[in-house]
Amino acid sequence: MSRKEFVMTDSNSDSPSSAPKILEISPVTSQEGGDSQGDLISRMKREIKTLKGKVISQDIRIFEMQALLQSGKGLSNILNLPQLLDTFMAVVRERYDVVNSSVLLKEDFENGEREFFQMKRYFGIDDHYEDDTGRREPLYLFRIEKNNGLLWQLIQQGNVFSVRNLQKEPRFITAWEKHNLDALHSDFWCPLIKSGEVIGILTLGERRDGTQIAESEYSFVQELASIATTIIDSTLKYEKNQRILNNIQILYEFHQQMAGITDIRELCRQTIRDAVKAVRAQKGNLMLLNRTTGKLEIAVAWGHIDEAILDDINSGKLGTKHFELGEGAAGKAAQSRKPLVLNNKDEIDQIGDFETHCICSVPVLNGGQLEGVLNFSNKVHIGVDGKPVLDILGRFTREDLSLLQGIADQSAVSIHKSRLYAASITDRLTGLNNARYFEESYYELVGKAVLESRPLTLALLDIDHFKKFNDTYGHKAGDHVLRTVGHLFAACKREGHEDIAYRYGGEEFCMILQNTPIEEALLVFEAFRQRVEAHEFEFEGKHLKVTVSIGLAQTGLNSNDPRTLFTLTDDALYDCKRGGRNCVTISKRTGVVGTPEAESA
Ligand code: GH3
Ligand code: MG
Ligand code: MG
Repeated sequence: MSRKEFVMTDSNSDSPSSAPKILEISPVTSQEGGDSQGDLISRMKREIKTLKGKVISQDIRIFEMQALLQSGKGLSNILNLPQLLDTFMAVVRERYDVVNSSVLLKEDFENGEREFFQMKRYFGIDDHYEDDTGRREPLYLFRIEKNNGLLWQLIQQGNVFSVRNLQKEPRFITAWEKHNLDALHSDFWCPLIKSGEVIGILTLGERRDGTQIAESEYSFVQELASIATTIIDSTLKYEKNQRILNNIQILYEFHQQMAGITDIRELCRQTIRDAVKAVRAQKGNLMLLNRTTGKLEIAVAWGHIDEAILDDINSGKLGTKHFELGEGAAGKAAQSRKPLVLNNKDEIDQIGDFETHCICSVPVLNGGQLEGVLNFSNKVHIGVDGKPVLDILGRFTREDLSLLQGIADQSAVSIHKSRLYAASITDRLTGLNNARYFEESYYELVGKAVLESRPLTLALLDIDHFKKFNDTYGHKAGDHVLRTVGHLFAACKREGHEDIAYRYGGEEFCMILQNTPIEEALLVFEAFRQRVEAHEFEFEGKHLKVTVSIGLAQTGLNSNDPRTLFTLTDDALYDCKRGGRNCVTISKRTGVVGTPEAESA
């Protein structure tokens, strides 16, 4: 005969802290009759067993809490993102005994409306994956785009969820196929949420024993993920601040450097070199606005460009394409006076043999006035050997942009100043240096030549009977001759030498030839004189002729005093005129102005 028996069960067995207060009475049958002592003992045994179970589950819970606390503490000591993610993944893998894991984080640059999550760290997964075109790509290039699909709805909920069913088939087939999610070999995902925003995803692979992780076990990863997310977020902010600090340092140094440069070419070179390096661009160029044509012209380029081409661009030998305002990214940035970033490859016109993944154009503005545009394309990683390697995933970030704007602003001021300076020392008719610049440079260069005991030759040129020429053919014809003689004169500058040409006065020109003995200069100018004599100056259908007279004097030979040297050169020119013009005369005199030697000369 079966009898009723009472068994204790805890209706709140999931809660480890609660003692068994409510007892449920359920009938059980017993073989033996009566409420014997044996019954009591076995009942108590069962009670003890239940209590033991509770203690064990409480113990597990305490252990997990301790593990969480320790893991959290351990993570919070790491300020290096890869190390942080690796440690976070290792703790979770160990807890669940899973074979692989990965962490994807939100990209920190703007890509229009699109939001991508890219692979940051992974473990136990193949280093390569096949993309949707069947191409094998390194896994660090793996990224998924956020959309409104079911998978993303779940991610945004913030709870851990399984991505495969019991048959191991993916639960989100559309997303699976679209993003090649098989590559991650994951069984369940844990969203990383900070202030309601998804900042990343932790994926976990299958368990070593092949079993699924029960929902009741999700809490550990869920709680650790929330701690880790806060730390990841702080680490990202820390790294960002480090970069900002570094950028401020770069800007400060750039400012210091620019202050000491007046030559516009050198300014441009320095700007583009520093800017390319600062944002780790693969290449960049600086276009200047040609105020005459209204077009943008490449002044300098820097980065991973064939060295010979780079040299030709930077020395001005290679005539590069000119851009209209509004044409291409550079032209658009120039026209709108606003920076333009294209981080999506599909939106970029692919020109040339190399793929462009991202571009950035920043207008160089001086108080709203356009001076030029800074252009950059692609990003690089700096490898362990210090050499840059193309970073296919690299894009231009907001920090890059603010750094480039800082550089552009500084260089705009410097370029503007140097343009004003260049204009103040340039003769408008011939484009040669003017008398002002002659005064500025002459004394210094003679002083330097004397100090270094190197010969410096000064040449003074005057067009013969130019008054008469003007009177006969008109002032405009005279201007045309002045311009042409100026070009022919500038062409006397020898390659590899630092010859400087000036228009000194009305129809007078001069040249400083450093490191040049007077005999060498004589050859240069005798050839030039003949060239002018032979030249037909074509003006309004007329073929006109002029001749020139040139005087020469040298430091260390005629005089080491700049004023005397100039006077002696002028004297030589005068001798030339007296001798019948159209010739080159070497000064035969020596002396110092004011000395009897010079007076008698
Ligand atoms: P000489 O052979 O002795 O040098 O005779 P010259 O006529 O060249 O010398 P002079 O100094 O008497 O005349 C210089 C002339 O140069 C006077 C002026 O008409 C002309 N001139 C100076 N500046 C300019 C200019 O900018 N444009 C033109 N068209 N003529 C100029
Ligand atoms: Mg004259
Ligand atoms: Mg003259």
